[in-house]
Amino acid sequence: MNVIDGVNDFIFPIFVYESELNYQNSLRLQYLNDSKVFIKNISAFVQKLIDLRICNILIFGIPAKRDSFGASSFDKNGITQKSIKTIKANFGSRVNIISDVCICQYNTSGHCGVHSNDVVNNIKDPKNMGILKIDNDKTLNVLGKISLSLSESGTDFIAPSSMMDGQIFYLKKILENNGFDNVKIMSYSSKHNSSLYVPFRNNNFFKADFIDKSSYQNSFYNLRESIREAIMDVDEGADWIMIKPSLWYMDLVKAVKSYIEKPLVVQNVSGEYAFIQAAAEKRWLNKKEWYVLFFMSMRRAGADKIISYFIFELLNKVSDN
Ligand SMILES: [Zn+2]
Repeated sequence: MNVIDGVNDFIFPIFVYESELNYQNSLRLQYLNDSKVFIKNISAFVQKLIDLRICNILIFGIPAKRDSFGASSFDKNGITQKSIKTIKANFGSRVNIISDVCICQYNTSGHCGVHSNDVVNNIKDPKNMGILKIDNDKTLNVLGKISLSLSESGTDFIAPSSMMDGQIFYLKKILENNGFDNVKIMSYSSKHNSSLYVPFRNNNFFKADFIDKSSYQNSFYNLRESIREAIMDVDEGADWIMIKPSLWYMDLVKAVKSYIEKPLVVQNVSGEYAFIQAAAEKRWLNKKEWYVLFFMSMRRAGADKIISYFIFELLNKVSDN
């Protein structure tokens, strides 16, 4: 099987910048650049993707400004909402839009949830002293507002990624109660706490510090918890289930695949992209061979759909060699 045969199952992540200056600054970092676009150029950018037969996109809006609450995440004229409206006006159903639902790219803390007024004071673990707590239910309320505004803008899927408890059940109800039964949910069921997301964060959030998200993201120690989360998300109404990162989680992909009948999406994340790029720059490996190995191993493990930064390059350049 040729890896390109699965092009309809590829999902390409894109970052749409509201500020041209942030966009230009980000390009200078020279990682993930194929995925970056300034909002004014979004139509030409999407046309290029369609020409490469990429018709599933996962959108992350990068706002010009962030505030403590992340209020622009649910603004009708927010960056993701504007992007969806422009893409749908120009391309309609030719593009399947999956929109990230989270607040970490909009707030100043970089956390995926709203802070409560409490702090964690676990005297047994000095590392956790004084850490701000995330308020699960307040966060659900914000995720609901984001999901509605994205649905009103015309998204095909919402993709809640903040890993709050009960988020799929809550958002499914909100969509149904507001007449958006047609909007589907791709759930980040098993988003593991990992430093493999650091290249993405550094490029798009300009945050070099490590952010501890272990209180709400999955632990890589606990396979059963990850399986349980996936099964629960299906029960709560998710249409697609997603697991990330990919390479060191293939056992989980195989296990989850045997428990669920919904399409299983696997995301190959920025850190996994970064190390292949870095090694290829040093001529330590053959990029095309590694892309193919990566994709085929995800397929063998049970991935029905694959999200990857490699897709653009694979279709645009490497496939000709
Ligand atoms: Zn987040």
